[in-house]
Amino acid sequence: MTYESLEQAVAALRRHNQTMYAYHHAMSALMHDASTAAPKNTAAGRGKAMEILSGVTYGLVADPANGDLLAYLEAHADALDDVTRRQVEVFRKGYDQLGRIPAEEYVAYNVLINDAQDVWEKAKNASDFEMFAPYLEKIVDFNRKFAGYYDPEKLPYDALLNEYEEGLTMQTLDGFFAELRATIVPLLAKIQAAEQVDDSFLHKSFPVEEQKKLTEYLMEVQGLDRGHCGIAESEHPYTLSFNTRDTRITTHYYENHVTFAMYSTIHEGGHAIYDMGGDEVYDYTNLQGGVSMGIHESQSRFYENLIGRSRAYIHAIYPKFKELFPVQMEGVDAEMLYRAVNKVEPSLIRTEADELTYALHIMVRYEIEKRLIDGTLAVRDVPAEWNRLYKEYLGIDVPDDKHGCLQDSHWSGGAVGYFPSYAIGSAYGAQMLSRMKEDLGDFYADVEKGDLSKVTTWLHEKIHRFASFKKPGQLFEDVCGKFDARYFTDYLTAKFTELYHL
Ligand code: ZN
Repeated sequence: MTYESLEQAVAALRRHNQTMYAYHHAMSALMHDASTAAPKNTAAGRGKAMEILSGVTYGLVADPANGDLLAYLEAHADALDDVTRRQVEVFRKGYDQLGRIPAEEYVAYNVLINDAQDVWEKAKNASDFEMFAPYLEKIVDFNRKFAGYYDPEKLPYDALLNEYEEGLTMQTLDGFFAELRATIVPLLAKIQAAEQVDDSFLHKSFPVEEQKKLTEYLMEVQGLDRGHCGIAESEHPYTLSFNTRDTRITTHYYENHVTFAMYSTIHEGGHAIYDMGGDEVYDYTNLQGGVSMGIHESQSRFYENLIGRSRAYIHAIYPKFKELFPVQMEGVDAEMLYRAVNKVEPSLIRTEADELTYALHIMVRYEIEKRLIDGTLAVRDVPAEWNRLYKEYLGIDVPDDKHGCLQDSHWSGGAVGYFPSYAIGSAYGAQMLSRMKEDLGDFYADVEKGDLSKVTTWLHEKIHRFASFKKPGQLFEDVCGKFDARYFTDYLTAKFTELYHL
């Protein structure tokens, strides 16, 4: 169709954005229900509804009329305000990408992913990689093909990385990870030769009811407005944001692992604060919510590690910990708790890894993904390669695939190229911390009193309020200048040298 005026075209864009918002809200609510409240044998009907709704949203984006709308808006780009222009840019990217994927491939892939998640869960429980391998083969083939649709100019794995962190390349990551390894591996060796931290008290029995009280308290300290941010329980913790005034986080309670729920709550709370902090002007548009996985992880891991595992924060929450768990915490002072939550120990499971060795887990996945996509590693060889890399990077033996290459849900969900954003996010966060210290001085003195308002206000001003308006690289550089992994490696070296008296 043709447009008679710019106002008419902008109104059509707004309508499209709001329609997409409404569908996403509804589909997200189905997903949230599935993982938190729905009875276990109810997946079929929900799956049917999801299939129909995703078909409708596919049609809404792929609609050829959007091509006319985009062409009109692009021809009048100079007359658009910055926010609308960026909306058009994001809309264009999604429209072109979807347009390049043949509809039958899109459908086939969605069916594959739906089946693969089910098979992965069974394969993981049975610790049987063979069962999952045929699905992973197809997922890798699809992703290699999709990479060409996303951006035929880029190397396939770079095109996939770009989907999660715009502009991120293997060249950047190879250098980044090499720098990280050069710091982490020798530091880890020194720590292992030093006197070990005792964290055994954290694995006593902590009743779930009391842990829930701790969760409520931690959310309060983090400044999460419970009128706008809900918490539920799910197998794997996650954050789901409907809009800036309605965000849900989840956690998972383990009676003998009190810090799991504690740190997953703080981590997801960081994602929630980011999503809720966007300026109103982006509400119900395609610029609502955080801009990339790397920036998102920088925020969640900022609260989890740079704040939540700081000495100041632990001193602030220690009295509550002691009050809720007087028996378990018998004879444990704040400093012992600080050291315990920072205990370094190479382990098998990424989500339970300490702050120092975490990046090594990511490096294993990065190496494997990169080679699966460029074809130098066959899917059937993944377990052997996984185990070899865990030995090489972390010095540990992987007993089985359940605790090895089947532990994460990302590949079965089709997310290839996602993992590096976790490590990039940690490094972004460390550089932001350095910037924050320059601006705010000793804000840890406030943190020690349980007051995170200065931290959150700074992050809001610099990062959150922009939602997806700025591209991630630009957003980061406007605040921190050029990305440099040294801020992260310096932070790790200083923290653990002091903590382990190296
Ligand atoms: Zn996260």
